Amino acid sequence: MTNIDEKLQPILAEVIRRNAGEPEFHQAVLEVMESLGHVVAKHPDFLELALIERICEPERQIIFRIPWVDDSGQVQINRGFRVQFNSALGPYKGGLRFHPSVNLGIVKFLGFEQVFKNALTGLPIGGGKGGSDFDPKGKSDGEIMRFCQSMMTELHRHLGEQTDVPAGDIGVGGREIGYMFGQYKRLNNRYEAGVLTGKAIAYGGSRARTEATGFGNTYFTKAMLETRDTDFDGKRVVVSGSGNVAIHTIEKVQSFGGKVIACSDSSGYVVDEAGIDLELLQEIKTRRRERISEYARRRGSDVDFVKADSGSVWDVPCDVAMPSATQNELSGKNARTLVKNGVIAVGEGANMPCTPEAIRVLREAGVLFGPGKAANAGGVATSALEMQQNASRDRWTFEQTETRLAQIMKSIHDRCAETADEYGAPGDYVLGANIAGFVRVAESMRMLGVI
Ligand code: NDP
Repeated sequence: MTNIDEKLQPILAEVIRRNAGEPEFHQAVLEVMESLGHVVAKHPDFLELALIERICEPERQIIFRIPWVDDSGQVQINRGFRVQFNSALGPYKGGLRFHPSVNLGIVKFLGFEQVFKNALTGLPIGGGKGGSDFDPKGKSDGEIMRFCQSMMTELHRHLGEQTDVPAGDIGVGGREIGYMFGQYKRLNNRYEAGVLTGKAIAYGGSRARTEATGFGNTYFTKAMLETRDTDFDGKRVVVSGSGNVAIHTIEKVQSFGGKVIACSDSSGYVVDEAGIDLELLQEIKTRRRERISEYARRRGSDVDFVKADSGSVWDVPCDVAMPSATQNELSGKNARTLVKNGVIAVGEGANMPCTPEAIRVLREAGVLFGPGKAANAGGVATSALEMQQNASRDRWTFEQTETRLAQIMKSIHDRCAETADEYGAPGDYVLGANIAGFVRVAESMRMLGVI
């Protein structure tokens, strides 16, 4: 706890005691607390009103059984979660994750991060997150549908366009959102389009929502590069993952003249010195749902596939690294390799992909570092734009929506940079993001009284 202000140490100790066995949640809280020493010095009432303790305690946590029948007629049971973390700024907002690793601690870390991320967008959205330990890999379309319907049969009573608005995350894309929206509509007998975001365009989705997280991280990272009078043009870029966020990061980086030479999935990574063929990657990963090794097989002998247990995608020398897979995927050792290979910027597309040690190594080396709660906020910001279109029964063009996204990302970048300057740490986007997000939520909570 050495980097934590002494007034905050007992608060952190109590969070750890009350949330035993949830290391990812502890990590997310610790990272924010490291930035709050100056804030409590400037706003002593935040301590008097127990605002930090209140922000660390979710408003509501829902855990439920999800029974469903697989294709062989067997009954399967999964566990569902929804953590409604903070509604000071608006309805709870944040995605649903389907992955076998999902547990309460992971959902709480994601929900906690989401509160500050949503505050940074400047839009009226609170923070929440949910999901299930269901593994979508290898499941038939019918199994996915039955699972999503069963999940929503419980979840629907806790949602509403003014109450709680989920979206996608790992393992939850347009197909899953469609099945869940269908079941919500059936159970409520209402066409409440704004209750879920990430919908297909055909029935109320927003253009550019699918692309928004990856595009947004690319805009944020570009803004960081511009502070050093450079940009993506001609840069070697490594993007981890090959899901929604990774694919649209690759697309935008390429459009800015960057050369993405490697990407991955949980089975390993590919290195394509000619630049990743985005069309082929989408065909393999998005449409056919195959493994990344298939990309190397189809591209031929010029492309290497390295298994996950034989190396890391961060061993590939690059100028810019954009981790876009999952939490704690970039270790201190990986960060040292990146620094040795001359990396100049790291933009976090995933949530908390860099370990605390990795962040320390990168910051000490003077690498531009965009933390996920700022750099990947474009997804949720565009979800809020989808809610806005649903509420006004309007639909915007791709260009209109992307223009708003680009403006929002620039303003998040500038707010983080200005806050870091104001608190005497120029260029420290971690401090800037944590303080700017926290202060907006805490000030609203103070005005709402002790609730
Ligand atoms: P997807 O499910 O579309 O893709 C996830 C990718 O990460 C896949 O390539 C997957 O590989 C890989 N991955 C997942 N878990 C692991 C693991 N344990 N080890 C190695 N690789 C892994 O998810 P998204 O692209 O939507 O999400 C990626 C990250 O971005 C997450 O951290 C998410 O919270 C964050 N994020 C997403 C937003 C969105 O709008 N979708 C918004 C903001 C943040 P494999 O297929 O082998 O599992």
